[in-house]
Amino acid sequence: MSTVQQPHSTAEALLADGTTVEIRPLGPDDHRAVLGLHTAGMSEESRRMRFFGVSRNAPEQAADRLCGPPRSGLLGFGAWAGEELVGEADCEVLDEPSETAELALVVADRWHGRGAATLLLEHLVHAARQRGIRFFEADTLFGNRAVHRVFADLGLPVERRCAQGEVRIRVPLDERDERYRSAVDERGRRAGVASLAGLLRPASVAVVGVSRRSGSVGRTVLGRIRRGGFAGEVWAVNPRAGEIDGRPAFPSVRALPAVPDLVVLAVPAGAVPGVAEECGAVGVRALVVLTSGLDAHQARGLMRACRRHSMRVVGPNSLGTAQTDPAVRLDAEFGGAFPRPGSAGIAVQSGGVGIALLQRLAWLGIGVSSFVSLGDKYDVSGNDLLQWWEADDRTDLALLHLESFGSPRAFGRTARRVTRTIPVLTVDAGRSTAGRRGAASHTAAAATPTVTREALFRQAGITATRSIDELVEAAALLHAQPLPAPRGAVAVVSNAGGIGILAADACADAGLLLPELPVGLADLLPPGASVRNPVDTTAAVTPVELTHLLRALEREPGIDAILVCLVPTALGVTPDRDPVYALLEGPARRRIPIAAVLLDQQVPVCYRTCADGGVLPVYSDSVAAARALGHARDRARWLAEPASAEADPPDCDRRTAGSLVDRYLAVHPEGGWLDPLSTADLLEAYGLPLTTSVWARDEHAAVAAARGLRRLGHEGRAALKAYWPGQVHKSALGAVRTGLATDAEVRSVYREFARRFGPELAGVVVQPMAAPGIELLAGIVQDQVFGPLVVLGMGGTAADVLADRAARLAPLSERDLTTMVAELCCAALLSGTGGAPPADLAAVRSVLARLSRLAEDFPEVVEADLNPVVVRPDGAVGVDARVRLERRPSFDPYLRRLRRPAVAEGE
Ligand code: ADP
Ligand code: MG
Repeated sequence: MSTVQQPHSTAEALLADGTTVEIRPLGPDDHRAVLGLHTAGMSEESRRMRFFGVSRNAPEQAADRLCGPPRSGLLGFGAWAGEELVGEADCEVLDEPSETAELALVVADRWHGRGAATLLLEHLVHAARQRGIRFFEADTLFGNRAVHRVFADLGLPVERRCAQGEVRIRVPLDERDERYRSAVDERGRRAGVASLAGLLRPASVAVVGVSRRSGSVGRTVLGRIRRGGFAGEVWAVNPRAGEIDGRPAFPSVRALPAVPDLVVLAVPAGAVPGVAEECGAVGVRALVVLTSGLDAHQARGLMRACRRHSMRVVGPNSLGTAQTDPAVRLDAEFGGAFPRPGSAGIAVQSGGVGIALLQRLAWLGIGVSSFVSLGDKYDVSGNDLLQWWEADDRTDLALLHLESFGSPRAFGRTARRVTRTIPVLTVDAGRSTAGRRGAASHTAAAATPTVTREALFRQAGITATRSIDELVEAAALLHAQPLPAPRGAVAVVSNAGGIGILAADACADAGLLLPELPVGLADLLPPGASVRNPVDTTAAVTPVELTHLLRALEREPGIDAILVCLVPTALGVTPDRDPVYALLEGPARRRIPIAAVLLDQQVPVCYRTCADGGVLPVYSDSVAAARALGHARDRARWLAEPASAEADPPDCDRRTAGSLVDRYLAVHPEGGWLDPLSTADLLEAYGLPLTTSVWARDEHAAVAAARGLRRLGHEGRAALKAYWPGQVHKSALGAVRTGLATDAEVRSVYREFARRFGPELAGVVVQPMAAPGIELLAGIVQDQVFGPLVVLGMGGTAADVLADRAARLAPLSERDLTTMVAELCCAALLSGTGGAPPADLAAVRSVLARLSRLAEDFPEVVEADLNPVVVRPDGAVGVDARVRLERRPSFDPYLRRLRRPAVAEGE
C-alpha cells in the first residue's frame, strides 16, 4: 500500500488535542460558515481584537472578501471539524507583484488553545511560498495576546514594530529554517501522541462482529481481551446475539451503556463503513479494523468516517494491538500469546512477521510495551508508533517491519530524532524487487529500491537487518549490553583455535577491527595458549583463568567489545556442565559489551543470567554474534556523530533555473531530456561546474568553435560530441571524439558524424579537453515516494560495470557530503595514493550539495547525471551532463497532514 503523494488542495491534519480537522481553500460555498465564524463563533472582544473596533458589517465584509469572486492575490484556508468551521487564515498580496502579503487569522472562541491557528498558518505559509510570497505582515492590537503567542510559537523569526497601541508584525517565510521545522515537528509529535491515546491507552473497548461461533475472529479477540485482564470496560456487539459467554451482547455501538474509546471491528468488509460511521457519530476515538479485503468504495467510506469524526484507524487487515502497561493490559489481537510486559515497542505491517517476532522475543525473554499490527496501513503507520514510543517512558527499544512507506521523508525525519534516544531496528523487506527503472542515466541505474531504502535507514540511524533472526539477534545485544566505542575493536576469545579463526573472520566481515593484544595476557592462560587476536585459550582453560582473562581484556583501552566462543570439551571449562558457566560467574554488565557463542546451543540466541543479575546474550553462531556487534558499533557511530546541519550551498539562482524549467515544460508538457545548451544553463544557475560547451550546427561552426576552445583545452585539444534528441550513452555509439588537435581533425570527425548519424544529427557539442583526473559520477534521481536521491560514484564509461556508489536522500547534511566520498571504494584514489596530490574534495562536496539543493527546489528535475565529473587537485569539472524534466507537483514532505491511502483516493 502506498500513499499517493500529490499536493492536495485539501488535507487532513491533527490539532494539538488529537482532533482531526480538514484544511481546505475557502470558496463561495463557505460564505455562511465564514460569516458564522466571525459572528456566533466570536465574542465581542474577539471581534474587537480582529477588526480593531466593533464595526457592524466587518464580519459580512470578511466573508465577502474570502468567499466572493476569486481575487488573484488572495489565499484563504479554512479548518473544519466535521461540518464546523474552526478557523480561517488568509493572506493577500495588496499590490502585486510583491513578495509581501497581508495576513489575517481567526479561530472560533471555543477552539482557542488547541493549535488550530498554528496549523492553519503552517498550511498558509506553505501555499504562500509556492506562490513566491516571502513575508507575511499583519497589524495586531497591542493587547491581542493570543495572536502574539501564536507568532511566538510558530518558530519563524518575527519582527515587531509598535505604534499607537498597534503592533505591526512582519514574518519572513522560510520553511527551511531549522527552528521552524523543529517547532512544526514538535507540534506534530504532540498532536500525534494525543490522537493515539484512544488506541494505545483506551479506558474502554468494544468488539463489533462477535459471533456466537467460537473460533471466529471477533469472538477470539473478545475472549483474549477478557482473559488478558483489561483494566477497563469491555463490551461485545452483535445485532443478533443476546448473550455471549454468559454476558450480554449489545445490538449496536449506539446501544452500549457508554461510549468506548476503542472499537475493534471484525465485521464483514461490506459492514465496515457503516459501523465506522456509527462509531464516529457516538464519539469513539480509535478503530482497529481486523477485516480484510475492503474494496475501494468501502475503503473510502471507512476513511471518510474516521476523518470526519477524528478517529485514528489501525488496519484494515490488522492482527490487532496489545498494550502491556499494567494500567491498561489490553490484548486485542489474535496472534500468539499475550506478550510479557517489557520495554520493546513493535509495529509490523505483516501479521505473520508480528507473530514470529513476538514468539522469538518471548523465547529470548525481551518483554513488550506495545504491539501494533499495522495491516494495510490506511492511517496509523510506523511513523505514528515511533512518536508514541518516543513519548512513552516504558519503551526503550523499537522494532519495525515495514513493507512500504507512505511518507518516507517524514518517517526519516521522525526516526532521525527517535534513534538519538532509543535503538530502532527494522527488517528490510522487499530487497529482491529488482525493479530498476528504464535506466537511461547511470544515476537512475544506481537508484534501485534497495539503495534508496538503505539510504533512508542509514540517514535516520535505523538498524536495518535482513531477516527476523538477524533483527532479534541484534536486539538481544542492544537490549542487554552497553554499546561499544564507535571504533569497534573486538577481542575474540575461544577455547578451540579453529572456532576462534572463524569468529575472527566473521568480525572482519561485519567491519569490526581485530587489534593486536598485549603478549602479557598469555600469563593468565594455560601453557600453549595464544594471545594473538583471536585468543586461543586451549581446551584446558579453567573458569578462573577465563574470568581473569575477560577482566584483563575489559581493562584494555584498545578493546571495545569481547566475543567469546566456546565449545564443550572433556577438558578445561566445567567439563560436565556447559562452558558458558564460566562466563556466568562474572558480571554481565561490564565497561564494554560482551557476546558469547556456544557452538552446541540449539536456539539462535538466548539470554543467560550472570552473577550480577544482568543477562548475557549467547548465540549459536559466531556470524550472528559478530553481525550483532557490527550493528551495535554502527549505532555507537551514529550516536557519536553530532546532528549535522543541512548543506547550504551559496549562490543557487532559483529564479533563473525556475524560468528555464517552466519554459521547457510549457513546450514539452510530457517532459523529456534537455538539450545540451539548456542543460548547461540549468546547471550553471546552481553553480554546478560544467566545462565550456559550444553548440555547432555545421562543419564550419564546429571547426571555428574548436579553434577557440582548443586554446583552453589540455595540451591544446578539443572534444567533439554528436547530438541528436533522445540519444542515450554517446560513446558506445561512436558519438564522442576526444583529443582533437587540429582543424583538419575536427573537420574529419564532423564529416564522420554526419555520415554515421545522417539527418538525425542535430549538431555537435564542442568542448575543450579537460586535464586528466579521476572520473566520478554525480547525479540525482527523484523517487515518486522517497523524494530525491543523490548518487556519487566511480564514473566514466564503465560506471555501471564498476558500480562503486554512495547514495543519500536529499536534503544532504554537511556530514553526508563527507561520508559519501569516504564510503567509495575509490576514496583512496581521491585522497592521493603513492605520493599523488589529493583531489579537490571540497569541489566534489560542493557538486553534491548543489545537486541536492537543485533536486529539493525542483521536483521537476527527475533525473540529472553528471558523468564524468573530472576531479583533480585543483578542482572538479563535469564534461558530460544529462537532465530530464517532468511535470511534478511540488510536495512538502514536512507539511503536517494525515496520510491518504491510495485505495481510498478519489471519489
Ligand atoms: P557518454 O557518457 O555519453 O558516452 P561522454 O561525454 O561522457 O559520453 O564521453 C565519454 C568519455 O570521454 C568520458 O567519460 C571522458 O572520459 C571522455 N571525455 C568526454 N569529454 C571530455 C572532455 N571535454 N575532456 C576530457 N575527456 C572527455
Ligand atoms: Mg558520460
